[in-house]
Amino acid sequence: MGSSPETEHPVKAFGYAARDSSGVLSPINFSRRETGDEDVRFKVLYCGVCHSDLHSIKNDWLNAKYPMIPGHEIVGVVTEVGSKVKKVKVGDKVGVGCLVGSCRSCDQCGADQEQYCSKNVMTYNSSIVITYGGYSDHMVCNEHFIISWPKDLPLDSGAPLLCAGITVYSPMRYYGLDKPGMHVGVVGLGGLGHVAVLFLKALGVKVTVISTNLKKKEEAMSKLGADSFLVSSDQPQMQAAVSTMDGIIDTVSADHPLIPLISLLKPNGKLVLVGAPTKPHELPAFPLLFGRKLVGGSLIGGMKETQEMIEFAAKHKITAAIELIPMDYINTAMERLQKSDVRYRFVIDIANSLKST
Ligand code: NAP
Ligand code: ZN
Ligand code: ZN
Repeated sequence: MGSSPETEHPVKAFGYAARDSSGVLSPINFSRRETGDEDVRFKVLYCGVCHSDLHSIKNDWLNAKYPMIPGHEIVGVVTEVGSKVKKVKVGDKVGVGCLVGSCRSCDQCGADQEQYCSKNVMTYNSSIVITYGGYSDHMVCNEHFIISWPKDLPLDSGAPLLCAGITVYSPMRYYGLDKPGMHVGVVGLGGLGHVAVLFLKALGVKVTVISTNLKKKEEAMSKLGADSFLVSSDQPQMQAAVSTMDGIIDTVSADHPLIPLISLLKPNGKLVLVGAPTKPHELPAFPLLFGRKLVGGSLIGGMKETQEMIEFAAKHKITAAIELIPMDYINTAMERLQKSDVRYRFVIDIANSLKST
């Protein structure tokens, strides 16, 4: 066994990797393990481009391991299954999100919350073992972490649900922001934010988008079905909305103030952070004490809930609004994602555009 990405494992693979914190992605030959008894091997068809991919390749969170092959919104077709696999068979469409492993025996794993297992294995840049993500020709993964793809859910525009979708769906359920007639704000209309609007509307919730960009208003209301739209820099608009919301899902990827958002909450309201900016938030006590307000966080979702979310999405015809791109457009896509210039998720057409060298 060699130790280079190319020779570490017996099965040759090909993808795009960042080599350093410039984040520039370029072709890489690497290798993946053989298909184990409980493993599913699949050809990657599509992979979404999450802002976490961008944070990761740029080492924003100071945990990058290079070479890094990002991608955790992966949809593909099964090419091989191990002898003990029951969930899927060759030819089935499957998905993999942010997780490819966990200890399977701790309290969190027992409660179907593998995302909070201290030994979980992220799909790429894992701190436990070396993992490579979906900007690649194929994947191999234990069947527990495989999502069975619903028949009538599109593969390309469905792919972003595997991270963006579950990341907003899970806190809606856990924090009880899923009751018809409630009023919930969604901050940041990007990959996560736009699918949050779609899920909340499907649940019968009144939705207000809180954005930095007035140009997104028309689409947010007519295409995504938001009920209202606030521009966060517009003080009179923000003032008029004070104490009107039962909850807020904050998907913002960059530094931004929380206090104006907390003031939009009714008493007992909940602000849920899912965005992961690098700089710590300023969080004074008084705006929370007056109104018994709560600020919480949430990380993706467990495997059971991810399967539930994808079936909910299929039933309600929820898919992401995507820009389908070829693999070699990825560096331009990352530059545009940095500037919030995407409507609303890039998805890489891996099978048709990733050519091995
Ligand atoms: P995205 O598509 O880039 O969307 C982020 C949105 O935030 C932008 O579209 C923009 O919306 C808003 N925004 C950007 N810069 C801003 C600023 N300086 N001030 C205020 N608003 C700003 O990113 P994404 O893929 O949805 O991911 C969003 C964040 O969630 C990232 O930090 C990502 O790492 C994190 N994430 C967390 C989890 C989790 O499990 N918790 C999972 C996936 C992703 P407007 O133009 O509407 O203002
Ligand atoms: Zn993600
Ligand atoms: Zn565990």
